[in-house]
Amino acid sequence: MRRSATARDASAGRVLGIGHGMVCGGEPDQSRAARARSIQTPDDLRALIAHHEAGHAIACWHFGIRVTSIRIDASGRGVCNFKMPVDMAERIRTRAPGFERLVEVADTVVVAIFAGYYAGLRYAPDAETPSEHDEALARQLLDAARAVRTYGAREEALRCIAAALVAARWGAIEGLARMLLRDGTVNVEGRAA
Ligand SMILES: [Zn+2]
Repeated sequence: MRRSATARDASAGRVLGIGHGMVCGGEPDQSRAARARSIQTPDDLRALIAHHEAGHAIACWHFGIRVTSIRIDASGRGVCNFKMPVDMAERIRTRAPGFERLVEVADTVVVAIFAGYYAGLRYAPDAETPSEHDEALARQLLDAARAVRTYGAREEALRCIAAALVAARWGAIEGLARMLLRDGTVNVEGRAA
């Protein structure tokens, strides 16, 4: 998981944001994606990752999570950086002041993480995007939320929301993926909710 020092507004007393990178993709010859029937060339893999990253970004925008950058390089490695409250999992787990609200925010971040997976799955149903960073961050947030909740089965609900959101916003995801494939990045300034 990438963390970049983008915290600001401390003096204004706002919740600090830190950049989290959902770094996805990887070496084509090591990925399940590369072995899938529909994903055979580096260009195929790059297109898959572009849809995966676009899924993250469209879901972030849907929930008002600020995306700070989104890009994909020539080798097919993609990144979608976004902001979330600093030490969110720890503050939830320790029931820090305002943790109830943070649990709600964590839910939306988890949906945005899962949306990358489901966008990739919708683009290439027999492929799977390698995304260890995504899984680690989602697990961290889900575990923290589970520690303060008295009910279970939350992960499945969030997965359903992510899959439904990807289906509902598929046109936007495809459009953003096309821009990423053409330009390698998209200017996200002004797109924050
Ligand atoms: Zn991802």
